[in-house]
Amino acid sequence: MASRSDIHFQPGVSLIEFQCQYGTEEQCREHLFSLKWPKGYRCPKCGHNLCYFIESRSLYQCRACRHQASILANTIFSSTKLPLTTWFLAIYLVSQSKEGFASLKLRRFLGISQTAAMRIKHKLQMVMKKADDRRPLRGFVQIDDVYWGGKRPGGKRGRGAEGKTPFIAALQRNDKGHPIFIRFSRVGSFNSSEMLRWGQKHLKPSTLVISDGLACFKSLKNIGHFHISAITTGRYNSPDFTLFDWLNTVIGNVKNKIIGTYHGMDHRHLPRYLGEFCFRFNRRFKLDRLLSSLIYYSSQIGPIPERQLRLAEDWW
Ligand SMILES: [Zn+2]
Repeated sequence: MASRSDIHFQPGVSLIEFQCQYGTEEQCREHLFSLKWPKGYRCPKCGHNLCYFIESRSLYQCRACRHQASILANTIFSSTKLPLTTWFLAIYLVSQSKEGFASLKLRRFLGISQTAAMRIKHKLQMVMKKADDRRPLRGFVQIDDVYWGGKRPGGKRGRGAEGKTPFIAALQRNDKGHPIFIRFSRVGSFNSSEMLRWGQKHLKPSTLVISDGLACFKSLKNIGHFHISAITTGRYNSPDFTLFDWLNTVIGNVKNKIIGTYHGMDHRHLPRYLGEFCFRFNRRFKLDRLLSSLIYYSSQIGPIPERQLRLAEDWW
């Protein structure tokens, strides 16, 4: 298990390395080409393996059937008017920053409009969230209910509090109890049907789930998971009660970090920002691979239309 200092002193990717690898439009395009066709060009229509590149339109035309394919289709770069170098630099800045990279800073660094910077930022956050959501948690998973701005350990639970945003906080731990992956998922409220939906999407079959005594968590048993309720009443303040320490620490960290980096954020954007935090946390031992990982998922997740960015309600 890497220590805190191992994580802190990990080398990332230097700006010079980045520029050497992705400094030109051609380099970025070739990289996307290799992600789309890792075994070489293959016509999506007839399967032929030879093509021409039409530079003026940035399209690959099949030599057999003349079908034209774009490497930007089905990626978050489809329909963009910005050069790929701008996108890749944004990915670099977002992936290498430990504290997150606000859109105002992106605007300054990239020399683009605030609207464009915001759009890039939100799309990348959504890529991060979707990338993690593809991998259900498994093994030993602790879960807890969190209200944004609400519950603190030992404090008033505030369940069902008006105007607060409910999330399920989940932490996968390894056999030594160390935290491996975290996930925050927005839910409509804490009830059995929401838990069933959540469990089907976010947990591998037969996961062992530990929670406190909130009744709706028990319904996970109905879809084949093992569930244990730990008795927490009156024990949260006890120094001997450490079962939820990791989870509480992570919840505390995410709150401090997001409040510190993104002042006064609209709660509707929270799922995206939490997705970004989790993506980074879940790859904290692989800082040098964050850049390639984010480029990879940006090319694999599919397009993210504008309207999807506005639909913050349905993002659990
Ligand atoms: Zn063809």
